[in-house]
Amino acid sequence: MELRSVRGTHDILGKDIVKYNIIKKIVSNYANLRSFSEIQTPIFEFSNLFLKPLGEQSDVVLKEMYTFEDRNKELLTLRPEYTTPMIRSAITNNLFEDLPIKLFGIGPMFRRERPQKGRYRQFNQINFEVFGSDDYLADLELITLANDILKSVLPNSKFNLKINTLGKRKNLIEYKAKLSKYFDDNKNKLSNESREKIKSNPLRILDSKNNEDIELSKNSPSIIDFIDNEDKVHFEELKKGLRLNSINFEENFRLVRGLDYYCKTVFEFKTDNLGSQDTLIGGGRYDGLIAKLGGPDIPGLGWAAGIERILLLMEDIDTKNNKIHLAITNENLKNHLIKLINFLNLNNLPFYWNYKYNLKKSLAKANSKKVSNVIIIGEDEHKNDFYTVKKLSTGQQIKVNLDDIKETLND
Ligand code: AMP
Repeated sequence: MELRSVRGTHDILGKDIVKYNIIKKIVSNYANLRSFSEIQTPIFEFSNLFLKPLGEQSDVVLKEMYTFEDRNKELLTLRPEYTTPMIRSAITNNLFEDLPIKLFGIGPMFRRERPQKGRYRQFNQINFEVFGSDDYLADLELITLANDILKSVLPNSKFNLKINTLGKRKNLIEYKAKLSKYFDDNKNKLSNESREKIKSNPLRILDSKNNEDIELSKNSPSIIDFIDNEDKVHFEELKKGLRLNSINFEENFRLVRGLDYYCKTVFEFKTDNLGSQDTLIGGGRYDGLIAKLGGPDIPGLGWAAGIERILLLMEDIDTKNNKIHLAITNENLKNHLIKLINFLNLNNLPFYWNYKYNLKKSLAKANSKKVSNVIIIGEDEHKNDFYTVKKLSTGQQIKVNLDDIKETLND
């Protein structure tokens, strides 16, 4: 049998896992500074958690969920996104007694999409969510946080923030009806794929990558004509706040998001350097969703960033190799080696030994790994109870007792 990984999945190793862990550390640090608590929910949930809230006509629910029947006939789904599991967790753990709630999580999501660069079937997301505030300052806080994290992990990349408001759900429903009619009247100019969405999900046509659809969308009705005054003010205040925070943005009245639960503010951070999978972060408000899932009737908002897309843009980290390599000339000197390893362990000194009793090979390895220090154990070292520290940059060899090793390594 030929061994291979499942299509759309990938291993993260080598330099990428180093970068992955750096991203996680930066994210946790920001979360801590701004008082978001970490949460980890199970990889799978009951399918019902996703079906309605994400939209029965959304691409995710229609064709991308990994759903299976458990042995007791219950339908389970590998989580395709993190907002609904976080709400489920807040409900089942009684977190709603103390509002607002600020949560973040990092972990794998699963969607059966067509794999390509930047698009996988198992991918990792960073998610930040706020439950219980309709203040535009909550929108501002989350967008600012996304901006700060992106700038911190990708200091040399350019990205563009696009924002829009979808208004209240009832306004959005009116808008969808108008949009459906517009596309229906012009359906001969639409791609086949979009034609199927005229009734079920006209918002997604605005998101199409097909040139004819894009042309037709340019003259479609605009959401801004359907928004009430309260939501207009909310959006205007948010924009003022972004300017105060010196965050550049572009308004795009045709920006929509793939999942049904969004309303009011929506936003995306995009890059010009990733081809078609160019959205690094997407998010927005989902007022009404928490109540729909059985929680209190409070607003919510959040965003998700794709770690793999950030990895594709992240520059290589120049990791300094601070390992001390050990080199031993023959097997009879094991006791002297054990003593050394014990000492290094007790002092938390990072070291590497290749389990070989061959000075030449060990030194060659140390050279190739560009380390600074090799500790050599030979007959003389064993007999007279000392160790030789070899400085690879100069070739200098220093004879030391165990107690003096630490100092010599630092020189
Ligand atoms: P969404 O949950 O669809 O709003 O996506 C939020 C972010 O997750 C996107 O902006 C991407 O960075 C990332 N993302 C979504 N789907 C995938 C995927 N199939 N593969 C890799 N990253 C993804």
